[in-house]
Amino acid sequence: MTSQRSAAIRSIATKRPVAISTEGRSQLPELFGANVFGLDQMRTRLPESAYSGLRSCMERGDELDPALADQVATAMKEWAVERGATHFTHWFQPMTGATAEKHDSFANLVDGRLLMEFDGKALIKGEPDASSFPSGGLRATFEARGYTAWDPTSPAFIRETTNGVTLCVPTAFCSWTGEALDEKTPLLRSADALNREAIRLLRLLGDDRVGFVYPTLGCEQEYFLIDRDLYLLRPDLVATGRTVFGARPPKGQELEDHYFGSIQPRVLAFMQESEFELWKLGVPIKTRHNEVAPSQYEVAPIFERTTVATDHNMLCMEVLKQVAGRHGFYCLLHEKPYAGINGSGKHNNWSMSTDTGENLLEPGKSPEENMRFIVLLAAILRAVDLHADLLRITIAGAGNDHRLGANEAPPAILSVYLGEQLMDVMDGMIAGTGKGSDRKGEQMQLGVESLPPLPRDATDRNRTSPFAFTGNKFEFRAVGSSQGVAKPNAVLNAIVADSLAWVSDEIERLKSDKGVDAAVSQVVAELFKAHKRVVFNGNGYSEEWHAEAESRGLPNLKNSVDAIAQFNAKKNVELFERVGVLTAKETESRRNIMFESYCKTIAVEAQSALSLGRTMILPAAQRTQLAVAQSVAAAKAAGLEVKAQARRLEHLTATIECMIDAIDELAAQFERAEEFEGSEHEHAKLYRDHVFVAMNRLREHADVLETLVDDQDWSLPKYREMLFLL
Ligand code: ADP
Ligand code: MG
Repeated sequence: MTSQRSAAIRSIATKRPVAISTEGRSQLPELFGANVFGLDQMRTRLPESAYSGLRSCMERGDELDPALADQVATAMKEWAVERGATHFTHWFQPMTGATAEKHDSFANLVDGRLLMEFDGKALIKGEPDASSFPSGGLRATFEARGYTAWDPTSPAFIRETTNGVTLCVPTAFCSWTGEALDEKTPLLRSADALNREAIRLLRLLGDDRVGFVYPTLGCEQEYFLIDRDLYLLRPDLVATGRTVFGARPPKGQELEDHYFGSIQPRVLAFMQESEFELWKLGVPIKTRHNEVAPSQYEVAPIFERTTVATDHNMLCMEVLKQVAGRHGFYCLLHEKPYAGINGSGKHNNWSMSTDTGENLLEPGKSPEENMRFIVLLAAILRAVDLHADLLRITIAGAGNDHRLGANEAPPAILSVYLGEQLMDVMDGMIAGTGKGSDRKGEQMQLGVESLPPLPRDATDRNRTSPFAFTGNKFEFRAVGSSQGVAKPNAVLNAIVADSLAWVSDEIERLKSDKGVDAAVSQVVAELFKAHKRVVFNGNGYSEEWHAEAESRGLPNLKNSVDAIAQFNAKKNVELFERVGVLTAKETESRRNIMFESYCKTIAVEAQSALSLGRTMILPAAQRTQLAVAQSVAAAKAAGLEVKAQARRLEHLTATIECMIDAIDELAAQFERAEEFEGSEHEHAKLYRDHVFVAMNRLREHADVLETLVDDQDWSLPKYREMLFLL
C-alpha cells in the first residue's frame, strides 16, 4: 500500500463521531424554521395589511406590490441583521443543475456613515451578469444581463456559516427579454397552469369551494458517504463524482446486511447535524436510514408545496455536502459512484393539494370525491401515456444512464403502477361503456360502491415501477440522486395541466347533451380504454416486460442521448406552448443545454480516466512488472523452474499492452469528439458511442491490473476501502 493510502486508512481508525454544540440540542419545535423569514416572523413584524398582502402573494404566487416590497424588505433585513446577517443574496437555480448566489452586503455609505440598508427594489429584483450561465443559445453575448426576481412562494432564509450569516432570497432567473434562464421559472409557470386547469375541471364537476390548487412534492434523497481522506486520494471522484476505475471488492452488497441496518455512530452524528441544519432552514426532514449498498443512505422530508420542496431539496443536497465535510466525510450525490453495486436515485412523490386542505389524489369517501379522484386518475394516465417521452427526458443525464434499467432502478420505459384494485375499477369503467346507451344508469357508477377503500400498503409493493400510485400520490422513481427536481416537476405539472384541459373540453362538449355525470363517465371510460396500455403492475425489471412494452407501442428511450433528442419534437414544443410553461425557443435552448451537459460530463470522465490511467495505473503496473520480471530472471539464472511465474509475467505484460492500446484508443476518440463540428445531437452520439465505449474498454484492463499489481504500489483507494471504511 502506498504510504498516502495507508496513512488515510490509519486516520480513519482514530476518527470519532463529531458532536454538535449543546445549543444544537434545543427542542425540535423551536428549532424548526428558526432561520426562515416565515409566516410567524411576518405576522409579528409587518402591519396587518402588509402581512395579508404578502400572504396572498405567497399562497397564490402573485407578484408583490412594489409599495409592499419596501415594508417587507425592511422587516426581512431587520430580522436577518438581528441574527447576524451582513449580506444578502438572490439565490437561484441556473441551468447548471446547481444553485447560484452572488452576495452583496447591506452596507451603504451615507455622509461617510455606514448604514445597513435593504429596500424593496433589492428584494424584488437583482441583476447578476448572466453571461457565464448556460443559456443554450437563448442569450446573445451582447445581451449578457439577466435578472433575478423574488419567488414569494418560497420564503427567505439565512445561512449561518463559520464566519458569518447571509440572507438568501429564493428567486427566479430570466433574461431581459423575459426568457427563463433557470429551472425555477418553468416550475412556477407549470404550477400556475396546473392550478388554472384543476380549478376549471373542479368547477365543471360542481366544486365551488376550492379556491386554488397546488402541486405537492416529497423527495426521498439517496446518497453515499465516503471518508474524506480516501476521497481526496481519488482524483476521478473529485473530478467526476464517480469512480471511473475500480475492481470488484470481495464483498459488495450481496449479504444484504446494510439496508435498514443499525446506523454507524460517525454516520449518525453526521445525519443528526445535517438534520439539525435543515430543520433550522425549515426543511421538514422526517426519515433517515441505511440504503441497500454499503455506505449508502437516504434522507426524506415531509412533503410540501412543490415550489418550496424543490428549493428545499436543493438546500438538502447542499447541507449534506457541507456538513459531511465537518464530519470527515464527503457526500457523493452521483447516480453511480461505484460500478457493480446499486446507484442512488431520488423518489419524487407528487400529488395535488387544495387551499381547503384536501389531497386531490386521496380516494374519497363520498361519491363526489370518488368521481373527482377517478377523473384525475384518468387524466394523469393520459398525460403519462402521451408524454412518457417527456418524463423520460427530464431525468436524462450521463449519471442516470448508469442506473436506469440496470435492475436496481426502474426501466427507461415509463409505465404506471396502479395496483389490482384500481385496475379493477378501471376495467369496470371500461366495461360499463361497452354496455351501450340503454344502460346509461350504469355508466354513472362512480359512487362509493364502485371504488372500494384502498388500503395504502397494498398499493406500495411494487418497487420496479417508474411511476407508481402509492395510495394518495404518485411516486416518480426514476429521478437521479444528483438531479434538481424542478425540471421533472415542471414537466409533470405541465402534462397533467394539459390533460386536465383536454378533459374539461370534452366534458363541456358532451355535457349539454347528457348532463355532467354522464359526460364524465363517458370521458373517463374513453380515457381508461385509450391509455390502459401505460398501466403495468408486474415486474418492471423483467425481460418479458420489455417485449410486452414494445408490443404495446410504449417508447423505450434507453439512453439519455436518444431521449434528449426528442425534447423539441413538435408535440412537445406545442404542449409547452399550450400550457404556457416554455416557449419554443426555451424548449430548444434546454435541449441544447442537456446535450452540452452530457458531452461535457463524458469529456471530463474521459480526461480523468486518461490521466489516471497514464500517470497512476500504468506506472504502478510497470513497477510490478519489473519486479516480477527481475525475480523470474533471477530464479531462472539460479536454474529453477519458473513456469507459473512466467505465466504471471505474461498475463501482466499482456494486460499492460492492452491497457496502453486502450488509452491510445480513448485519447483518439476523445480528440475526435473534441474537434467535431456539427449538431449537438451528433456530438452527443460521438461521446456516447465512441468516447464512453472506449472509456469502458480501458476500465476493463485497468480493473484487471488492480488485481495483479503489488498492493504497495497501488495508490488509488480500492472499493473495499471506500465502501467499508467509515
Ligand atoms: P415510502 O415511500 O418510503 O413508503 P411514504 O410513502 O410514507 O414512504 O412517503 C414518501 C414520501 O412521500 C415522503 O417524503 C412523504 O412526505 C411524501 N408524500 C406523502 N404524501 C404526499 C403527497 N400528498 N404529496 C407529495 N408527497 C407526499
Ligand atoms: Mg417511497
